[in-house]
Amino acid sequence: MTSPKHDDTVKEISQLIWQHAVDRDWDHPEPRSLAISISLEASELLEHYQWSGEPVGDKEALGEELADVLIYAFQLAHVIGVDPADIIRDKLQKAAKKYPAERFKGLSSTEKSKVWLETKIQHRENKKTL
Ligand SMILES: [Mg+2]
Repeated sequence: MTSPKHDDTVKEISQLIWQHAVDRDWDHPEPRSLAISISLEASELLEHYQWSGEPVGDKEALGEELADVLIYAFQLAHVIGVDPADIIRDKLQKAAKKYPAERFKGLSSTEKSKVWLETKIQHRENKKTL
């Protein structure tokens, strides 16, 4: 992993993105439009991998598509009133319970896929009994 060029906090990035929207009077987007935009930009990112595991395009091109996804995600977080850092932490905590590290660490990729599916099914069945 490369070192970041800047040391911005999540809050600073969020403010930077929102200011960009405010400066252009783009600060009243519909949540639905932002959710659609996230999916569209994710598809643009996926297009780089459409025909091969090796992406078409360089790191800069991939980074631009990933940035589009993240920018819309930050905007949606702002509009619906959730803190990106909080929801990421909360989701990782839930995922850690759902997929305990000790069940996956050290397994081959085939074994991980099998355990992942078993864990997902088990989690779904546990939710039904609650
Ligand atoms: Mg794009």
